[in-house]
Amino acid sequence: MAYNQVTPEIIAQLEKIAPGRVITGTDINPDYGRDEMPIYGTRMPDVAIDVLTTEEVSEIMKLCYANNIPVTTRGAGTGLVGGAVPMMGGVVICTSKMNQILSWNDEHFGVVIQPGVILQDLQQAALKRGLMYPPDPGNKLSTVGGNVSTNAGGMRAIKYGTTKTYVRGMTVVLPDGRILKIGENVEKTSMGYNIVQLITGSEGTLGVITELVLKLIKAPKIAISVLAPFEELNTALQAVPKVFQSSFRPTALEFFERDILIMSEEYIGKAVWPRDIKGTPIQAYLLMIFDGETMDELDPILEKLTDFMLEQGAMDVMIADTPTKIKDIWDARGVFLDVIFESARLYDENDVVVPINRIAEFVKFFWDEAKQYDFGVNYLGHAGDGNLHIFAVSNDMDEEEFKVQVAKWMTSMYQKAKELKGELTGEHGVGGGKVEYFQEYVGDIAYELHRQIKLAFDPKNILNPGKVCFSYEELGLAPANV
Ligand SMILES: Cc1cc2nc3c(=O)[nH]c(=O)nc-3n(C[C@H](O)[C@H](O)[C@H](O)COP(=O)(O)OP(=O)(O)OC[C@H]3O[C@@H](n4cnc5c(N)ncnc54)[C@H](O)[C@@H]3O)c2cc1C
Repeated sequence: MAYNQVTPEIIAQLEKIAPGRVITGTDINPDYGRDEMPIYGTRMPDVAIDVLTTEEVSEIMKLCYANNIPVTTRGAGTGLVGGAVPMMGGVVICTSKMNQILSWNDEHFGVVIQPGVILQDLQQAALKRGLMYPPDPGNKLSTVGGNVSTNAGGMRAIKYGTTKTYVRGMTVVLPDGRILKIGENVEKTSMGYNIVQLITGSEGTLGVITELVLKLIKAPKIAISVLAPFEELNTALQAVPKVFQSSFRPTALEFFERDILIMSEEYIGKAVWPRDIKGTPIQAYLLMIFDGETMDELDPILEKLTDFMLEQGAMDVMIADTPTKIKDIWDARGVFLDVIFESARLYDENDVVVPINRIAEFVKFFWDEAKQYDFGVNYLGHAGDGNLHIFAVSNDMDEEEFKVQVAKWMTSMYQKAKELKGELTGEHGVGGGKVEYFQEYVGDIAYELHRQIKLAFDPKNILNPGKVCFSYEELGLAPANV
């Protein structure tokens, strides 16, 4: 695949399409050359464009398509698989200025937005109307367009589903510049192939999303957090499937071990979580949220849950029912990833998902495997859906050696997760960082279908090349700083 350079003539044409918003050379924000997982490679684009309208995006794509210039779409760049990094150079289309909520349909629980709307802005605006946009990935400053493109998950997925559950329609600019408007604000559809859901989670490889029609729900009035400490991790994890078997419907069910909590509390400078109960150290925690309309509805559930958790071996059950207590508890949980990013010079992550009754086996496996390597391990998990975020971290290893060792560890984990009937990624996506594992995971037939779908949308492979199902190497390209 031969891509062309962005010439001064092309820049002049881009400037006509998006006057004053075409940025080149050292004026480009350095963040545009990376996301939050730089270990998968960094590279600056030749041109960055802050787009404002669907029509502009269409004109840019027509020009780039005609000239074989790679284009990568960027939301907020909070991705963790190198998805928004323009490893082949070319043009970055940045959606952050397309950040308008365009219309609400409160009666039919819908909202139409531009893709650059920040997640927390949408969540807060919906709440003011008594509505909720349930997807809740940890990074509230990510864009909703990025969330849709990665089918972002988050803690509320166990009760409300992931982002895809809330995508009803979209406007997408195809790689050749055609504008596709598909899907309406209706509850169901059985109309042909589900292109809306195909583009959802396609990580910017099939089109540039320029408008979204999203579903909302009525916001629950109350959310209570419940913390259950355990003397050992296995007991905590064994309780997880039983929570669901016993008909509890938590909104979130997280687990983590003592070490990451201590790191987080040191980071925020506040220790609010118990570390011992009557002199016995706590090794693991389950943290849950239950939501509903009234305390009369939730009280009996919480009472039953308390008895149930104690029967399962919890050392105690603590209920946070005031805004201050809830904030204190979640502040420490909310910074887990920031702590890891800021405490380690080198880090890599996987976000496999395994069946919830196999989490304990998987955790033991990766700890045992890690013993043979020089890096450290930090991790946390969405216990309720089996999605783990497992980090290799180091401050003193040589980067190349770190990559070699981590690749071996990751490979063993991916093999194990597959054996346990899990999946390669629960919510972060394949991006550029996990392409090498993807084929083996999905199998040859599904891999080939992915490539045919990609080429049906993008026969010249100019949109986000080297991501998901085409690797950089196989495209015959030598990215600068991989
Ligand atoms: C601290 C932290 C916590 C996180 N917690 C979670 C979590 O709980 N759950 C979770 O799922 N993720 C989480 N993430 C990962 C990240 O926030 C999500 O992947 C998020 O959805 C990315 O959104 P973004 O706007 O930053 O997208 P970017 O990183 O800018 O882009 C991500 C991908 O989407 C594509 N894209 C972006 N916008 C468009 C568009 N308009 N059209 C087409 N393609 C587009 C890009 O090309 C790229 O492939 C976390 C990240 C961090 C740093």
